[in-house]
Amino acid sequence: MAESAAAPFVASTATQLPIIAKSQIKPTWCPGCGDFGVVAAIEMALKRLKIPSKDVVICSGIGCSSNLPHFLSSYGFHGIHGRSVPLGEGIRWGNHGLTVIATGGDGDGFGIGVGHLIHAMRRNVKLTYVTMDNQIYGLTTGQASPTTTLGHKTKSTPDGVIENPIDPVALALASGATYVARGFSGDVKHLADLVTGAIEHKGFGFVDVFSPCVTFNKINTFDFFRQRVYKLESSGHNPSDIVAAWQRSLEWGDKIPIGLFYKVDKPTYEDLEFVLAAGPLVNQPCGLKGRESILDEFV
Ligand code: SF4
Repeated sequence: MAESAAAPFVASTATQLPIIAKSQIKPTWCPGCGDFGVVAAIEMALKRLKIPSKDVVICSGIGCSSNLPHFLSSYGFHGIHGRSVPLGEGIRWGNHGLTVIATGGDGDGFGIGVGHLIHAMRRNVKLTYVTMDNQIYGLTTGQASPTTTLGHKTKSTPDGVIENPIDPVALALASGATYVARGFSGDVKHLADLVTGAIEHKGFGFVDVFSPCVTFNKINTFDFFRQRVYKLESSGHNPSDIVAAWQRSLEWGDKIPIGLFYKVDKPTYEDLEFVLAAGPLVNQPCGLKGRESILDEFV
């Protein structure tokens, strides 16, 4: 497992535990969709860390990318729109022994679910959150999302987007995330490095991924990003310097940085919450002795 946990719930006694693999369900994504690179990177990261499938839960919201939990052999929870992060929080608090990865798209995470996301980051919940950011609503066939760039003409913005896009990296830095990275699904190995770091990180690991929608976004394509992205680790960036991280997060144009923007070690929510200090909730008595005792207390 990626980290030690206080007496986690053990679901299996097998000595040879299966490591993550592709599930029997084949992705229904359009051929060439960026999300194929993301599921491959998550699989690669979990294999590197040798985390047994039984100890991994991947949860999601709604959208093309939120189908991801179906395609790997871990436990999964396909939730409702914008709720992958609170689902992950609940799962993690229930059992600290699990590796929890929340996934979803830019509409799911930065539109419908943005309130949950901000508060999970400022709590420094031990969670990995991977967004497949294609700057469009793909599942609903091409409307502007919170990260669609200014002027982009979509089905919902025929005269071009007039709202400033959210910058996910800057949002994460401002919200107190302790591991902030950006990857590109066109570079799976580099993305797997970032996801591996997020899983290993003791705190909220945020990885925003340029994951092109090849069907409905004809501007932010694989070629668009291949021509622009450069790696922070090759440019002398110091990921412990939050001011430098801020400056890099504002770069957008001919050069767009990917890599680890910022990392810092701080106590997690689990470290500080006194109820969780007694161990994973799954190992704690629920305190309900029977229907009669509840009735005695409240009636
Ligand atoms: Fe991927 Fe776009 Fe197709 Fe959805 S519509 S599966 S995001 S390419």
